[in-house]
Amino acid sequence: MLTSLHIQRYQGWQDAFLRDIGAQWGKIVNPPLDTPIFPNVPRTLIRFWCDDVAAGYISRGYEGGRQFVRDQAADFRRVQANGKVLELWNEPDCNTNEGLIMLREATLGAIDEANAQGFRLCVLNLAEANPHGNNLPEAEARKAERWKWEQLLDCINAAVEGGHYIGRHCYWRPDVEGPTGRYHALGRLKWDIDTLAALGVDVSRLKVLVNEWGIDGGIAGHTPQQGWRDLTSEDAYIAQVVEAEQYARGIPQIEALMLFTAGYEPPWDGFDHDEGFCADLAFALKAMEPVAPATRLLAPLRREDVVRITQRFTPPTHYGIDYSCREGTPVYASCDGIAYRGNQPSGFGLYVRVEDCSGLYVYAAHLRAWAVADGALVQAGDLIGYSGNTGNSTGPHLHFEVRRAAPGAPRPTSAQGAIDPEPLIYWPEDAAPEPLPNDEQGPPMMLAQKARWWAEQMQREYEAGNTERAQAIRLSLIDLLYRLEGML
Ligand SMILES: [Zn+2]
Repeated sequence: MLTSLHIQRYQGWQDAFLRDIGAQWGKIVNPPLDTPIFPNVPRTLIRFWCDDVAAGYISRGYEGGRQFVRDQAADFRRVQANGKVLELWNEPDCNTNEGLIMLREATLGAIDEANAQGFRLCVLNLAEANPHGNNLPEAEARKAERWKWEQLLDCINAAVEGGHYIGRHCYWRPDVEGPTGRYHALGRLKWDIDTLAALGVDVSRLKVLVNEWGIDGGIAGHTPQQGWRDLTSEDAYIAQVVEAEQYARGIPQIEALMLFTAGYEPPWDGFDHDEGFCADLAFALKAMEPVAPATRLLAPLRREDVVRITQRFTPPTHYGIDYSCREGTPVYASCDGIAYRGNQPSGFGLYVRVEDCSGLYVYAAHLRAWAVADGALVQAGDLIGYSGNTGNSTGPHLHFEVRRAAPGAPRPTSAQGAIDPEPLIYWPEDAAPEPLPNDEQGPPMMLAQKARWWAEQMQREYEAGNTERAQAIRLSLIDLLYRLEGML
């Protein structure tokens, strides 16, 4: 479940709720130190409240960012939770020239320090609807917003590269727009991700935490600090949370939707998702269709064989991605499944369709030749054909198209089922970020064995002269041992 909680005061029932709905994340502000928390979630976002002092760090740029992480490191290590991620400053200025520059530089500093210390960060944490469009007319506003994102590209790319998370706030106000609204809520986030993709960010590796979301009266010029109790009914609110959960499942970069807030501190009383509300919410969430495992598709071509992308997913004119490449370039299966050959002289030409048995249909079209038997079982990476220029094609290229249908439903047409494959694609050479000891999951006995292995690994890294990696392992190993101790 993507839905989870932003907790301001830790109370026991929150653990049970998170376990009950199968949440993958929990978020806590000013967590208790040296005390096991959130035993049932694999990942924990941690924020130390510092709104009044954060600006002082940001205004010092790169060095300020490094110092911010250093100053929070000791407390962060003392938090006993699974898969800890440290949240940077909250809702920073991202609209003035100075704000953009300092935010970028300070974030780069924080990322470098976190990489050295072996921490994972959640960066940016921009307020909903920001960077904003300077109150310009629609088209102009979108240009201004895009330009501001462009100024932040260096730190976003550094975050992607280091396996860090991008934090985002997505509030909505029911009489202005719903939870999937395009100005403040998840629709805006979708636009942001598409913008980053257009600016060259590798969004197949982008990880986003919606670390504050819910109903807020403060957007669109209304009174701030009104929660759901003032703005809607419980039933209507729960329906909106379910709607958002459904919508967000279609955006592969989103890892969590953290409802603000559970276990309130004044003045957030109206927002509080207390035990009774959460029991009703759990009931509604669990009635939803089970979550399909995240789809990842191996690129159908080797990166060096792609001349360029000549057309992207732009329905209703184009339902796939066109990779321009020389005729005869090897084409590979993008997922495990059954491969079928096809021939449409006035359409796809020679093509191969791979069906994954969960409702996914992956097409490689305009081939010169098939390289797989009709009905053969294939694995991702198996050779299935050679690219060409057959069918309705005006030059040598591969048309790569992905359609999705509900399991058991008939095979959809392009217009019915095509989805944008680009965010789902990974390339064979994309290495996952190097794992660290505290990434390990499992029961205590397994963790103890892994801890011993990591201690030996740390020694090997030292002996090989990789002192930075050894140091990162050492610090993460301490986190793992703290966590293990909390489990015993
Ligand atoms: Zn095409």
